[in-house]
Amino acid sequence: MATATIIDGKRFAARLRADIAAQVARLRADYDLIPGLAVVLVGENPASQIYVRNKGLQAREAGMNSFEHRLPATATQAELLTRIAELNQDPAVDGILVQLPLPKQIDPEAVIEAIAVAKDVDGFHPLNAGLLAVGGTAMIPCTPLGCLMLLKDRIGDLAGQRAVVLGRSNIVGKPMAALLLREHCTVTIAHSRTRDLADECRRADILVAAVGKAQLVKGDWLKPGVTVIDVGINRIPTPDGKGRLVGDVEFDSAVEVAGAITPVPGGVGPMTIACLLLNTFTAACRQRGIPVPEVRPAAE
Ligand code: NDP
Repeated sequence: MATATIIDGKRFAARLRADIAAQVARLRADYDLIPGLAVVLVGENPASQIYVRNKGLQAREAGMNSFEHRLPATATQAELLTRIAELNQDPAVDGILVQLPLPKQIDPEAVIEAIAVAKDVDGFHPLNAGLLAVGGTAMIPCTPLGCLMLLKDRIGDLAGQRAVVLGRSNIVGKPMAALLLREHCTVTIAHSRTRDLADECRRADILVAAVGKAQLVKGDWLKPGVTVIDVGINRIPTPDGKGRLVGDVEFDSAVEVAGAITPVPGGVGPMTIACLLLNTFTAACRQRGIPVPEVRPAAE
């Protein structure tokens, strides 16, 4: 019998977007300011095209300006850097996102470092990563920010919780751990060299899984009542050949043990784009010295 509460990220993200839209309308009325998001796509990766379209669409739905910049798959690094330099200078652009992955002739680190720190709405610039690590005013990567919002909505004060983060990537695992530490959790980061992953997981009051391995975490790896945030997006084969999306956690066994769990799809995924909009709004305010209001999803 299923016991866990299902954390509805899709619904929470919709509420967050509505709240961002209300704040954007206020910004327009009070300061005659419309936040602008520039999304740069290099090449024709089908998944990236869908992501870019959705980001633009949701930015416009929130009342922001959205600028799409497409470069051919053959674009050189110098061409992309020139485009970024233009966007850095453009006062209508508050946030710049370069869709990853990039074609192999382009070094993603050089590109990320070329984005103005104040416009780095993905929060991937090393300076933003450093600010997050030392507790400064950083632009926080969207996926961990979305996970944190779901956790706070579910648990409230996170102080003292034992949090285990599976995965140590720069875009999810590391910033997630830094955020949980900032919330006064006791944080463990596990990765591919961790000796006994199941044992580490069993200690967690909060488990964030971001490894990219389908259904790696089993129900019997969990402490009863744990809150599970499943970041993984993995496609597994199905008999009809279409495949289906699953997370890094084996949902059917985990739901029997956990206190709450995010589903895949419909959990963390929708929060990522909502947090991109939030970061764009925040970037627009900060760049003009406008106090950033706390944006919180309206009560249901
Ligand atoms: P990366 O591949 O960059 O990092 C994966 C991490 O998992 C690494 O730190 C790796 O360890 C660790 N790892 C891999 N295999 C194991 C294992 N068997 N046991 C323990 N640790 C392991 O992935 P990302 O962080 O970019 O993404 C993780 C997942 O999250 C993916 O499924 C991705 O699709 C998804 N994702 C979802 C988003 C969303 O919006 N919902 C946004 C971003 C990502 P090591 O460092 O030792 O190699």
